[in-house]
Amino acid sequence: MSSRSHLLNNRTAERYRSLLGHGIERVADKIATTERPCTGVTPDELRPEVEAVDLERPLADPREALDELERVYLRDAVYFHHPRYLAHLNCPVVIPAVLGEAVLAAVNSSLDTWDQSAGGTLIERRLVSWTAGRIGFGKAADGIFTSGGTQSNLQALLLAREEACRLVRKNAATPLDTCEILPRLRILTSACSHFSIEKAATLLGLGPESVVAVPCDDARRMDTDALADELERCTREGLTVMAVAATAGTTDFGSIDPLPRIADLCEAAGTWLHVDAAYGCGLLVSRRHHMLEGISRADSVTVDYHKSFFQPVSSSAVVVRDGSTLRHVTYHADYLNPARAAEQSVPNQVDKSIQTTRRFDALKLWMTLRIMGPDAVGELFDEVVDRAADAWRLLDADPRYTVVTEPQLSTLVFRYEPQDAAVPQDAVDQANLHAREALFASGEATVAGTVVDGRHHLKFTLLNPETTLEDIATVLDLLAGHAQQYLAVHSPLSTAQAC
Ligand SMILES: *Cc1c(COP(=O)(O)O)cnc(C)c1O
Repeated sequence: MSSRSHLLNNRTAERYRSLLGHGIERVADKIATTERPCTGVTPDELRPEVEAVDLERPLADPREALDELERVYLRDAVYFHHPRYLAHLNCPVVIPAVLGEAVLAAVNSSLDTWDQSAGGTLIERRLVSWTAGRIGFGKAADGIFTSGGTQSNLQALLLAREEACRLVRKNAATPLDTCEILPRLRILTSACSHFSIEKAATLLGLGPESVVAVPCDDARRMDTDALADELERCTREGLTVMAVAATAGTTDFGSIDPLPRIADLCEAAGTWLHVDAAYGCGLLVSRRHHMLEGISRADSVTVDYHKSFFQPVSSSAVVVRDGSTLRHVTYHADYLNPARAAEQSVPNQVDKSIQTTRRFDALKLWMTLRIMGPDAVGELFDEVVDRAADAWRLLDADPRYTVVTEPQLSTLVFRYEPQDAAVPQDAVDQANLHAREALFASGEATVAGTVVDGRHHLKFTLLNPETTLEDIATVLDLLAGHAQQYLAVHSPLSTAQAC
């Protein structure tokens, strides 16, 4: 077969149809018959399979490549669609979005300039303004699709930094260099916010001291009195708060910071308000929209459609209340997006992005809205939020576990606690760690883990409406079994008592 026969073009459309057909058959069979969310395979078990592949020698038949793919990937993959996948913020995907993914990969538009994407540009723009409308932003709003919440947060904070520098310069008695301003910039964010805020600060040339962690209340929401104190302290010390980064749905607890009060404080201080709604954005289409009250007063918002909109990775956006702030990422290149094009109002999305070549991820959301509609997406999210509330009641009544906080969204953080209070807490830590690992190794279910107040906890992230309360009860039994078994062997106290 000639090399050129692999190119997708007018002569090979039939081959595309048939090969993709085979691929889809395999995946459909796999998904139809998968009984466990994972196989618990270890890196050491799987590495030899991958290492044994000779990348210099392609296989004779594409179907052989699919057979091989079964061994190196599909057999042991972690399947997010399985109802007992309860670990991280990964969602089962909706079929209309997967259709969009297939289309965008084949057409392969690049969304940087109009002359590489045409209609794709307009579709992305419609979806940004649709999202802005749901947020409650006005006509001036704008934004851009990104690769994920990490990138959305980075871009939002980049805009905030540039705006802060502009204001500091405007108010300074003498001209200031950027390098004189940066060390005095601060970002206030809750102690429960996502680590990408700190990462962004580093990438933006700010030191580790630039991110100030504001304490949380018991429900893991930003303590707004503490925020007010921090804002005051910064002013007193001649520091500039370039942004308050609030979270609408913290990764661990799903807690939503008190946005209206935070917006009041930001307004009074003249500070950029960023709302990281990477997780909570599903509320934009849910009957619980009111839980995002105050979000319309943000300057920038991060939304991860690949979390609570049931989209395949990647699909995210950063949306800003004042689209003109996107000029801070506008750079012109003669070969791509000359200033002349902007003057002629050519819609070149690269003018608003920190990427250049960029996937048409927006198409997945477009197909989702056109086939399902926003209410159907919201219903799916509402269902998992309802389930989490039921699961909380289950856990709260279960003497084997303590739960950290009642969920606002769909995560539960809990800890196995043996009945015998004499078991040392360090041993309990190990039992919780072990329970999680043993569960994964069994392939029966996957849960996440996190540390709260220095102690190991277990975590459910519910994003699959197919997960039943029964699934959750079963997984709690499995976890308790593993933890008890661990303590029976490792805790001298329980062993003594067992004898
Ligand atoms: C997941 C998450 C992020 C990071 O988003 P990615 O899409 O994984 O890059 C940021 N903030 C919050 C609150 C998140 O839950």
